[in-house]
Amino acid sequence: MSEPERIVIIGGGLAGASAASALRAQGYSGDVLVLAAEPHRPYELPPLSKAVLLGDTDEPDWVHEDGFYAAHDIDLRAGVAATRIELGSRQVFDAAGEHHRYDRLLLATGSYPRSLPVPGSDLPGLRTLRSLEDSLALRSALSEAERVVVVGAGWIGTEAAAAARKHGAEVTVLDQAAAPLRDVLGEDISAVFRELHTDHGVRWRLGAQVTEFTGGPEGVRGVRLSDGTELAADVVLVAVGAAPRVALAHAAGLELADDGAVRVDAGLRTAAPDVYAAGDVAAHFHPRYGRRVRVEHWANAKHQGGHVAGNLLGAHEPYLRVPYFFSDQYDLGCEYRGLADPDADELVIRGELHTREFIAFWMVRGQVTAALNVNVWEHGDALQALVDQQIPVDADRLRHADLAELAGQAG
Ligand SMILES: Cc1cc2nc3c(=O)[nH]c(=O)nc-3n(C[C@H](O)[C@H](O)[C@H](O)COP(=O)(O)OP(=O)(O)OC[C@H]3O[C@@H](n4cnc5c(N)ncnc54)[C@H](O)[C@@H]3O)c2cc1C
Repeated sequence: MSEPERIVIIGGGLAGASAASALRAQGYSGDVLVLAAEPHRPYELPPLSKAVLLGDTDEPDWVHEDGFYAAHDIDLRAGVAATRIELGSRQVFDAAGEHHRYDRLLLATGSYPRSLPVPGSDLPGLRTLRSLEDSLALRSALSEAERVVVVGAGWIGTEAAAAARKHGAEVTVLDQAAAPLRDVLGEDISAVFRELHTDHGVRWRLGAQVTEFTGGPEGVRGVRLSDGTELAADVVLVAVGAAPRVALAHAAGLELADDGAVRVDAGLRTAAPDVYAAGDVAAHFHPRYGRRVRVEHWANAKHQGGHVAGNLLGAHEPYLRVPYFFSDQYDLGCEYRGLADPDADELVIRGELHTREFIAFWMVRGQVTAALNVNVWEHGDALQALVDQQIPVDADRLRHADLAELAGQAG
């Protein structure tokens, strides 16, 4: 296959920027155009609910240093959104009034925060957290807030709650689920995070249904629940998950998967000729799981971006990495590798949950489906190998044996 003359990337987040730099790293010398809606060069989002929100820094982690894109002849158009894709004529139209022909197109438009369809959800001051501006504005509000309500006890909600406590506010986290992070971690591990936040003074309203955001033109003043309770708040953060940003793809006629993300095959290709998708926006057919998965995590955006570059240049390599993510809350840091069903897979704990220093393994038929290390940092490679290799291991040995040896033996 001949090398494409012009590759257009829509989305200047981690996936888009990683793809652009990988194209150059792989020696591609054709045109690379990145249309990036935000007025910044690409940056990574994790610090927005951690170091930036805590006030430790005003800057996110930039994907590349200043000057990188120009130095690598990557035409980064910061602040210019793509407005339309025309698949037939292979063109992308942008908000600056230009249009761009492509030989290959990558969609890396990421996600946006979901809202709750209840009265008051359009009140001024109701906050979500996705961009650098969101984080700086939330931080400033937290620094003056007395009472904060966080709606949603997922990763962003719990990390933001930790930051709000650091700012000294009274914090209530509510969720319709019976426990924080339960869908990902299951009851037992969820309890560790619940206790962690309780120990830091967070109040919980679990199994709670929001029926209304209260307030007026001057701003949101609280949250009403289905049992009639009203929680007054100076700051309300809605952190109820993110939806893939697919308006552009949908309007162009690209096929969406059941979860609403752009449907791509194992090699991150859509069904449209020469159009690919990577990162949060993509529902990727993962050969290991035999189904499509949409992974909304930093490592997935970085690695899928790097991987898709090869396929944009003509390879047909499947993307095979298992999901990986990390979180930091107060003095607890953790990493999760793999993909488990916490309601079905067997849970094996190495260490003691109450010490908040342990490794949790999930297993099916003696194979490790996922591993979560909490405040334990020395076994990363072994954990990755155990999750990757899918070779039967003994649960008792996971609890007690040398993990490097076990991973080596498994291999
Ligand atoms: C606050 C926060 C904290 C997080 N913390 C962690 C963490 O601790 N660990 C972890 O593993 N993951 C974390 N994540 C998730 C991780 O950051 C995302 O999975 C990752 O950023 C996805 O990268 P992406 O490039 O696919 O999408 P995005 O980062 O969303 O980037 C997409 C970009 O495309 C742009 N765009 C959209 N539409 C257009 C258009 N039409 N034209 C041009 N540009 C467009 C958007 O403006 C955006 O800049 C966090 C996410 C958030 C929001």
